[in-house]
Amino acid sequence: MTSSNDGKISELKKIIATSDKIVAFTGAGFSAESGISTFRGAGGLWSRYDPNIYANINIFMQDSSYYWNFFKDERYPVIKKAKPNDGHYVLVELEKLGKLYRVITQNIDGLHQVAGQSDVIELHGNTRKIYCLNCEKTYNLDETYKLLQKELPPKCSCGGNLKPGTILFGEPLPQAALEMARIAAQNCDLFLVLGSSLVVYPAASMPRIAKNNGATLVIINIDPTPMDEIADLVINNSASKILSTVIKRG
Ligand SMILES: [Zn+2]
Repeated sequence: MTSSNDGKISELKKIIATSDKIVAFTGAGFSAESGISTFRGAGGLWSRYDPNIYANINIFMQDSSYYWNFFKDERYPVIKKAKPNDGHYVLVELEKLGKLYRVITQNIDGLHQVAGQSDVIELHGNTRKIYCLNCEKTYNLDETYKLLQKELPPKCSCGGNLKPGTILFGEPLPQAALEMARIAAQNCDLFLVLGSSLVVYPAASMPRIAKNNGATLVIINIDPTPMDEIADLVINNSASKILSTVIKRG
């Protein structure tokens, strides 16, 4: 940790110590530290796979084999191997201490739950929860992988088509999750942004909602974000490193 961060880290310690209704808002940068490649930007998945073909709801409904090939070659091996990082575990610790109000995530890898987080608001769904469009039977990652080795696109035991539990391009965001996230942002005393560049809606709107309702806003992200100017504290560093410096796991 560089010395320029020392002052900010002690400030963050103080803020966390005096907060007891913390909302943690996690984005792609948080999962990147678990080896999950990001979607956007140079080298991101979408630079190799056009999301308007491989992850678009209209194409998916016509021919889901694009998505399932992408799942088989790119998503399954990465998600299967990924493990929660220190940051995920620190948030579980904050929950145990009774200081964490909600976790809101833009990530679809389900790593918060793997780490033991009980209550996660998922704005873009979850890759691990696959379901049948016909009978709504659910399948996990391994079950789906087995099915798609037999046939592609994979089929439910009822013959129906399977769909990932993620929100594809062209699909509306899950309204219930969005509403819960808004309520959490309105009612927290600390809104902690962790590894999100805050450029995609609704991520971009949440810090302002929190701030307008009296919360302290802290942003920990490798790069600057458009919300830095309204934040009480900005730390341009790895969120999991900073968190594990500030909070010791029990
Ligand atoms: Zn079915």
